[in-house]
Amino acid sequence: MEKLIVANWKLNPITFKEAKDLFGAVKKHAKVKNTQVVICPPFVYLPLLKGLSLGSQNISSEQKGAFTGEISALQLKDLNIEYVIIGHSERRKHFSETNETVNKKIKMALEAGLKVIFCIGENEGEEKNTILQNQITKGLADVLPAQMEQVVIAYEPVWAIGTGKNCSTEETKSAVESIKNTLISLYGSQIAENTRILYGGSVNSTNSAEYLKNGEVNGLLIGGASLKPDEFIAIVKSTE
Ligand code: PEP
Repeated sequence: MEKLIVANWKLNPITFKEAKDLFGAVKKHAKVKNTQVVICPPFVYLPLLKGLSLGSQNISSEQKGAFTGEISALQLKDLNIEYVIIGHSERRKHFSETNETVNKKIKMALEAGLKVIFCIGENEGEEKNTILQNQITKGLADVLPAQMEQVVIAYEPVWAIGTGKNCSTEETKSAVESIKNTLISLYGSQIAENTRILYGGSVNSTNSAEYLKNGEVNGLLIGGASLKPDEFIAIVKSTE
């Protein structure tokens, strides 16, 4: 299965010049066999960056019309954007996104023909299996088996995001097993096996290879380290 390395730039960088320089550096060095690199910059840069797969960090739960300030899945599709991140913990926390909002956005994205990077993960101290099962079941409600080919699940324990406290490969493996069990109960074992699962949370060039080798994941979602070109390129190369 092709590996997927996704850069989530979040609300960075502040100038287009910096965005262009960062993108250019990554584009030059981040071509690796059997690995797809996806850059998810802020919306404003999406139409301006060319030469690597792109994803947005969010979409509206509405398709079109009187929704000031929103960006629609259809508009992104029209710009040839391939992926959208949905359900990131920062959106759940700072913008009050619930499993129901996440579900609406996932269905909106899939209907528009975007691929979805569906983020799930427990907060510190929460019971991992229960949270993951609940987020998956509610987030994927009414998503058809045939649409699951377009869905990638990113396991991102909230306590590991941006903290430097990355999840051990043992814990990651157990989360992957739990995710697969929920997918089996919803869609059967073939779809569960074919669904790509990523890990995200304080990944850097020192720990990335270990996840890909021993964490049972098909790729990585990178926040902070994706803003440092050398670091991000080293992570991409660690898939080799
Ligand atoms: C993220 O925001 O999805 C993420 C994984 O961030 P970081 O790599 O900085 O922990």
